[in-house]
Amino acid sequence: MSQTLFEKIIAREIPAEILYEDDRVLAFRDIQPQAPEHVLIIPKKPIPRVGDASREDQALLGHLLLTAGEVARELGLQDGFRLVMNHGKNGGETVPHLHCHLLGGRPLKWPPG
Ligand code: AMP
Repeated sequence: MSQTLFEKIIAREIPAEILYEDDRVLAFRDIQPQAPEHVLIIPKKPIPRVGDASREDQALLGHLLLTAGEVARELGLQDGFRLVMNHGKNGGETVPHLHCHLLGGRPLKWPPG
């Protein structure tokens, strides 16, 4: 199996602006930001997308969400932010490695497009 783009970022084969890392997750700035702050939080385990995660990933996904909240706090997004996970073609997924978008720094419209 070939490595996903995000596995290459984890391996430092592709550069990224990393904001947080531990043994289970990595947070880095999105290369095409859709808001003043746009960060991707990914598990190091290559789960393709959220709907493919299993019960054994429960603690990992909890850790990922808690990390997203901590990164938002670090970025000073006390006025609000949004977490998004795109699953599949209709969900707008383009990279098949589970990732949580953290978007903030401006008012975000609802519903999303
Ligand atoms: P999605 O469309 O939900 O699969 O999100 C994939 C995201 O990865 C998009 O927002 C892209 O802008 C972002 N992206 C693609 N390549 C890179 C890269 N090399 N570094 C950081 N973010 C990237």
